Formats: sequence, C-alpha cells, structure tokens
Amino acid sequence: MSSDSTSGQPRIAIIGGGLAGLALLLTLHRRGVPATLYERDASVDARAHFGGTLDLGWKSGQRALRENGLQAEFDKNSRPEGDELRVYDASGKLHMKRGGDGGHPRGPEDLRPEIDRTVLRQILLDALPPHLIKWDHGLASVRALSGGQHDLTFANGATTTADFLVGADGAHSRVRALVSPAAPEYLGVNGVEISLAPETTSLPALAETLENVGSGTMFAMQDSRMFGAQVNGDGRIRTYAWLRAPESWAVPAADPAAAKAVLREQFAGWVGWMMNLVEYCDERAIYPRALYTLPVGHRWAHVPGVTLLGDAAHLMSPFAGAGANLALLDGLELGLALADLHEAGKLGDVGVVAEKVAAFEEGMCAMAGRVAEGANGNLAVCVGPNTPEAALKRFAERMKAEREREG
Ligand SMILES: Cc1cc2nc3c(=O)[nH]c(=O)nc-3n(C[C@H](O)[C@H](O)[C@H](O)COP(=O)(O)OP(=O)(O)OC[C@H]3O[C@@H](n4cnc5c(N)ncnc54)[C@H](O)[C@@H]3O)c2cc1C
Repeated sequence: MSSDSTSGQPRIAIIGGGLAGLALLLTLHRRGVPATLYERDASVDARAHFGGTLDLGWKSGQRALRENGLQAEFDKNSRPEGDELRVYDASGKLHMKRGGDGGHPRGPEDLRPEIDRTVLRQILLDALPPHLIKWDHGLASVRALSGGQHDLTFANGATTTADFLVGADGAHSRVRALVSPAAPEYLGVNGVEISLAPETTSLPALAETLENVGSGTMFAMQDSRMFGAQVNGDGRIRTYAWLRAPESWAVPAADPAAAKAVLREQFAGWVGWMMNLVEYCDERAIYPRALYTLPVGHRWAHVPGVTLLGDAAHLMSPFAGAGANLALLDGLELGLALADLHEAGKLGDVGVVAEKVAAFEEGMCAMAGRVAEGANGNLAVCVGPNTPEAALKRFAERMKAEREREG
C-alpha cells in the first residue's frame, strides 16, 4: 500500500456514513489510524426521515459501542423496556408476550435495549472530529489503479485516490461491483411504513391501541399479512405493514387518503385498535418499503485494496433485527484488524493487509450468511399463510436451540 505524501500514512477512504461506516471510522480514530469518510447526504440533517428504533445485542451492536467507550452513552439513551414483544392475530387475540416486565432477573447480556436510529447516529457523530467526515460526497465512479489503489470521483466534482477503500454504502452499494457481481434481489414482500405522531398518542381514541402495542414491539400476523409496530424514544409509534405483492406494488404515498384506503382494503376485517394505526397515521410520514436481500451467504474472493461492510456486503431481510447490529460489528472488527496492522507498522504492506482483510471478510460473510438464513426463515413464517401459529412455533424452536447452544 502506498501512502499519503503529507502524513506518510495509507489513505483509507470509507464510503457511506451509516452505522457500518461510522463504527469503522470511530474504531480507527480512537486507535490513531487516519481515515476519511465520504457521505452522500448533504449534511447531518439532510434526511428528515431517518428510520425507527433498533434493538442492539450485547455481543454485536453494543460491543461496537462498548469497545469505543460509548457503553455509558448507550445505556443513557436506550430503553431496556423496549425489549418487550407481543404477538397477536388479526382479531386482536394475544398469542405471546415476553420481556418488558422483568419476568426473571436478566443481566445486560440478555437484554436488547432499543435506541432510536437518529440518536444512535448522533452518539457516533459526537464521538468523532467533524473534519473526518466529508458530507455531500456521493461516490459517482471508481477506477482501480495498480497496487490496490483506487481513484474516486464524487458527484460534487471532487476526486481523490485511496490506498484502501471501504464500501459501507448500503444496499445499493457502488463499491460492491469492484469485488462481486451480486445485486439485491426482491424478497416477495412489500409494504409501507406509517406512524402515529407523538402528539396524537394521547388521543382517547388511541388509548386501546397504545395499551395493546405495549412498551416495545407488537407483531400482528395473519393470512400472509403483518403489522409490526414499535414504540420509539420520542413517543412516535412506527408501524410497518407487510404483505405479499409484486415488487412494483406501492401505496400512493403522496396521496395519504388513497394510501389509507389501500391499507384498509388489504387489512379488511382486522380489529379496530390495530386499524387505528392506519386511520390516525401521520400523513406526512408514509413511506413505501419493498424488501430486498443479497444472495444468502454472499462472499467474494478478496480484491486487494478494497472491502465491503454492512448492507453493502450482506443486505438481508429485517426479520432477524440484525442488519444494524452486524453493520456496527463489521465496522468494529475491520477497524480492530486495521488498527493491529497500524500498531505493528504493517498497514503499508499491501500483501499483509490483503491477508488480514481476507480473513475478516471470511468471518463476516460466514456469520452474515447464518443470520440471513434465519432472517429469511422468519420472514417466510411471519408473512406467510399459517401465521401466527407458524411464527410462534419457529420462535419457540429457535429460542430452545439458542438455550441449548449456550448450555
Ligand atoms: C424496514 C427496515 C427495518 C429494519 N429494522 C432493523 C432492526 O430493527 N434492527 C437491525 O439491526 N436492523 C434493522 N434493519 C436493517 C438496518 O437498517 C441495516 O442493516 C443497516 O442500516 C445497515 O447499515 P449500513 O451502514 O451498512 O448501511 P446504511 O444504513 O444504508 O448506510 C449507508 C450510507 O451510505 C450512504 N451512501 C450510499 N451510497 C453512497 C454513495 N454512492 N456515496 C456516498 N455515500 C453513500 C448513504 O447515504 C448512507 O448514509 C432494518 C431495515 C429495514 C429496511
């Protein structure tokens, strides 16, 4: 690997300021390894809508924070009570309730506290010097040079050369094509994200809805349809409505009345308190959501000078609640691997870096493959014909297998 003529350090370029890219940048920064992150968004506030709440596992998402000195920040901003899960059928019959009420004493390792994505991202950004992140730098094209270097051209006209390039640029990664021909495939499940705005949740008409959603996540499933509602930290109740439909299916989001009418028709006969999630939804926040995956077990032969992290490497169905956790873990693990080489004075050696990164990729892809298989299996039963029974059976089997594995 050659180096930057001014600092004498290899130039590490991270494309994408999602959880994977930020976790990598932070891990490197805290260990004295210079790197620059290029993000397409014009600024930190560019997206009014930035997604819902995420539950972070002790050994995955939380580990990436803990090993970067952010466990206390996470504990302060996350909600252990959000760990609650309730499962209903379309009539409103409760089939399962777990967590949230402290049924048996549990340590931090057993909990998956919820944190809003916006809050989590801000915690990571606050821990980083702002000059390491170049906003408004959407990668437009890449040209491979010799020795693992890449010339990068951004949509704003800027150019740079990277000695090591990391594609943390999400589902529709531009960097991915440098290592793999794989592309996201439609999962057959389409849907829409709606939400109850915080100011509406005190309405008496919504009291039953809030009571039944509970303090964490509520799944309602039947006849290959599903509502997945989650309580966010700012009081918003975000709901994903999923159903089997072609890739081209989409609610007319720009026409809220028509969008609600479509959902009313799709979920005809579902109990009133659930349909209130539709009836009272925030008309400024209706987003079509089709689900995609990379091929399960996606991997590639290592290409010197470049790698992928997070969804760019292993996009999967969200039904394992794992993508954000894996993205954070990938960022940590690649960062630790590169920091080791930095400490040993080997970060400039293309062959040594290639070997270390190939081993990282092997581990990342193996784990992501196992998780994606589970996520797709969950999707099949949650948005399938025999729900909620089939889903509950699967959850119970998986919990039993987990308990047996952990002894
Ligand atoms: C509906 C839904 C619900 C989900 N719920 C959960 C959950 O509960 N728990 C969980 O663990 N996971 C969940 N996930 C998955 C999770 O959101 C993703 O796996 C995670 O965000 C991936 O992080 P990432 O950093 O790899 O990619 P992203 O978060 O997509 O970040 C990629 C970044 O790269 C930037 N970018 C893209 N292209 C370029 C470019 N050309 N140049 C520069 N920058 C670029 C983007 O602007 C973005 O900031 C969910 C996903 C969906 C769709």
